[in-house]
Amino acid sequence: MHLHWHRKDLRLSDNRGLVADVDADQTVSLFVFDPTILRNATPPRMAFLLDSLQALQAAYRKRDATLLIAHGNPTDAVPAVANAVDAETVTWCRDYSGLARQRDSAVRRALDDTDIDRHTVDDAVHHAPGEITTNAGDPYKVFTYFSKKWHKRPKTEPVAPPTPDSLATLGHTDVVETIGAAKRGDDEDDVTLYSSIPSLEELGFDTPGPTVPTGGTESAKALLDSFCEGDIYRYAERRDYPADSCTSHLSPHLKYGTIGIRTVYNATEQAKASADTDEERESVYEYQDQLAWREFYTQVLWDRPNVVTANFKEYENPIEWRTDESDLQAWKDGKTGYPIVDAGMRQLRKEGYMHNRVRMIVASFLTKDLLIDWREGYDWFKQKLVDHDTANDNGGWQWAASTGTDSQPYFRIFNPMTQGERYDPDAEYIMEYVDELKGVSADIIHSWHEQDLGTRKRHAADYPSPIVDHSERREQAISMFERARGDE
Ligand SMILES: Cc1cc2nc3c(=O)[nH]c(=O)nc-3n(C[C@H](O)[C@H](O)[C@H](O)COP(=O)(O)OP(=O)(O)OC[C@H]3O[C@@H](n4cnc5c(N)ncnc54)[C@H](O)[C@@H]3O)c2cc1C
Repeated sequence: MHLHWHRKDLRLSDNRGLVADVDADQTVSLFVFDPTILRNATPPRMAFLLDSLQALQAAYRKRDATLLIAHGNPTDAVPAVANAVDAETVTWCRDYSGLARQRDSAVRRALDDTDIDRHTVDDAVHHAPGEITTNAGDPYKVFTYFSKKWHKRPKTEPVAPPTPDSLATLGHTDVVETIGAAKRGDDEDDVTLYSSIPSLEELGFDTPGPTVPTGGTESAKALLDSFCEGDIYRYAERRDYPADSCTSHLSPHLKYGTIGIRTVYNATEQAKASADTDEERESVYEYQDQLAWREFYTQVLWDRPNVVTANFKEYENPIEWRTDESDLQAWKDGKTGYPIVDAGMRQLRKEGYMHNRVRMIVASFLTKDLLIDWREGYDWFKQKLVDHDTANDNGGWQWAASTGTDSQPYFRIFNPMTQGERYDPDAEYIMEYVDELKGVSADIIHSWHEQDLGTRKRHAADYPSPIVDHSERREQAISMFERARGDE
């Protein structure tokens, strides 16, 4: 028997771990609720995960196969279940963050104490960290050159799902017996096997505030198909316009692996082959470039696991971030008086999602206008985003804060008013999320910072005046970075 441990690969098709070339007749699958991960999880993310797990279990059941669901420290749970099902080999798909690697090493060591083999594969990315390097063999620190090589490298095709007869069918009684063999108790550190997928409530989570997108492979496939039939061709031109919503919305699916990266890339290649014009082909390329960003940040995190808390870029002196609870709260609440920033922050609360351009704007605003540490913003995003992914979230924050991989220097500071005007000219996106500004003309909205108090009160009495002056704060931000560089 071969035991496949599902983690961020909640799918049957295009799963390299599940069909790994191991010496076993049949495969049984396992998912483990790890108490360490549960402690850091949030209701929206957990809701998406549970939905995806339900879909995965249904896909197994359709093939008369079993997905075991355990709770416990993987170091105990994986060997215990492997023993209980008589597995000769355990497989899993590699996860590249520092914490995941520590956990996986511990599981590896635990399996080394048994006579069970383990086999791990690269699955979540096309090019595993360490594969694309500078000519000197070092990991890239900026995206441009990484991206050039990433696009040139051949990509592998999606892998077929396992055949139904290669999947182990454990009858209900067998499962109960198997559970009995692995169950050890009810303490958090004990290994428990569930007879069905636990609910949010059973896992100790509240109902999520935001409406969480549907999880599972079918939902991911539907998004991908619809995107590749239409929006992918106008992606390059329109991806920065939040009211358009023409991006793929695949981020939570790519995070939890409900769809394989090879499947996504393959669909985009087919879209490229069906494109009518060079612009359409370039648009597909632009989308593929975002997939390359994802792999770039994955290799940054793999190479420098400490970026989760430390600046990627070294400055001579510490950056003198401000501590200001009231400004931070206004940012979190979407009450800064900068309409595009507030719309983004309210979208985040409402949907557990924010458009990419707006993520950049709100991140620049927190760090360069409020002069507040990027770690505060990263923590808030981590709490609120359904698609929170350590590598991408951290990469995005550090890029915006000029502490990361941005090749431009620290004086790249977004002007929140001109950004709003350029990317949301009719203020459609702003009005969708900022109720107080509904019905106010786009001209007034985009010049909110220039209006006098009387005009502001007349148009939107309940909407705040700007909490800071952008031009002043821009100067202060530049000085703050100059001091950090040792220039002042
Ligand atoms: C401050 C900040 C925080 C971010 N946090 C996250 C996060 O936690 N999780 C996350 O997946 N993305 C994050 N991003 C990147 C990006 O905003 C989202 O991936 C994107 O908005 C998701 O929507 P989509 O799937 O429709 O994207 P699309 O435009 O359709 O892109 C397709 C896929 O490419 C990847 N991608 C796109 N843009 C980026 C990028 N800039 N960096 C890395 N990968 C990218 C994602 O997997 C995305 O699903 C962040 C960006 C910023 C500026």
